[in-house]
Amino acid sequence: MAYLNQNYLKLRAGYLFPEIARRVKTFCDAHPEPAQRLIRCGIGDVTEPLPSAVRTAMHAAVDELGTRETFRGYGPEQGYEFLRHAIAENDYRARGIAIDNDEIFVSDGSKCDCGSILDILGDNNRIAVMDPVYPVYVDTNVMAGHTGEANASGAYDGLLYLPCTEANGFVADVPTEIADVIYLCFPNNPTGSVATRAQLEAWVAYALKHGSLLLFDAAYEAYISDPEIPHSIYEIPGAKECAIEFRSFSKNGGFTGTRCAFTVVPKALQGRTKSGDTHPLHPLWNRRMSTKFNGVPYIVQRGAEALYSEQGRTEVQALLSHYMGNAALLRQAALDVGLSVWGGINAPYLWVRTPPQTSSWQMFDRLLHETNVVITPGSGFGSAGEGYFRISAFNSRQAVEEVASRLRAMAW
Ligand SMILES: *Cc1c(COP(=O)(O)O)cnc(C)c1O
Repeated sequence: MAYLNQNYLKLRAGYLFPEIARRVKTFCDAHPEPAQRLIRCGIGDVTEPLPSAVRTAMHAAVDELGTRETFRGYGPEQGYEFLRHAIAENDYRARGIAIDNDEIFVSDGSKCDCGSILDILGDNNRIAVMDPVYPVYVDTNVMAGHTGEANASGAYDGLLYLPCTEANGFVADVPTEIADVIYLCFPNNPTGSVATRAQLEAWVAYALKHGSLLLFDAAYEAYISDPEIPHSIYEIPGAKECAIEFRSFSKNGGFTGTRCAFTVVPKALQGRTKSGDTHPLHPLWNRRMSTKFNGVPYIVQRGAEALYSEQGRTEVQALLSHYMGNAALLRQAALDVGLSVWGGINAPYLWVRTPPQTSSWQMFDRLLHETNVVITPGSGFGSAGEGYFRISAFNSRQAVEEVASRLRAMAW
């Protein structure tokens, strides 16, 4: 019998979304009529259709593949030059950030990249994550054997948890301890918080001082409306020497099902060997992608490129306005019933404090039973999330208006 990767056995069985699905199913089986009224404001998936600029580009790409002259087989593992160029030019150089096309690696998702990045990092790094946290950062480190066992509240031995609280505005403070790798996510999932320039400068200064690597997840950067808030970690001088950035077309272009994202690995970024030599990380990631990945479909990359066209940008703006209009309605409803609310201004998530003496899961059950609305319990994202819940603004306007009126009608 083959030996298995025992690290997987350390993963907590009751993972958040399966547990939500289980409770929703139990409720629906027992209450068929309320079940028809069920509105999901839980999982962070987009709801609105793919922009027409994207679909037109994808149709054209399909047709190109239909003739021998324009057919394409395997593409470059790092992504087609046309897309790497469009990304580097529009997302970086147009904003005064010097990123080369070959520092962009196109992939089929940021979730995968956040996990795969561990392939090029050693096993002896001290890893820091924010708490609450996007579970992928934690679980991929568990799978890679970078942690011990989980305790009763779900925290793993060996990880450094950086609490995000009301006191720090849900933006982790730079720790006094040294961490080699730090996961940062802004705008944040689940709390909807954003980091100011000064806060990001503090992180970059910390990383440069200690030789740490920042893994910066900017999946929600398009939702930033405040002109003072940086969209990219590379807006901070020195970040190219200490940060990898993950971006995705999932939440701006509605590509959650279409699958396209990218990771920026600057050539200036270095890692060290156990004997103390330094090496650039860029060739390692390039090798990793060339060996373990065979590229995103040509059709999908043409679709992603179209997001940068004039029509594409207009359509993306309309999607963002739609979701942020939803966020504003949900925020107002929560405030009107006396709840304390964060987020929902530069991010499509609202982070809401539960009423006194109500745990996150109690709140989940109450909202499910009394309003037939599904939210995400904050404690599922880490122990610092206890006492909060997340409402997602990814929904139709009609569903959001209904959720807002049910929240107002509920006996708080
Ligand atoms: C949605 C999301 C992503 C994007 O993941 P994809 O695999 O590109 O769809 C990345 N990070 C966070 C925190 C997210 O919520």
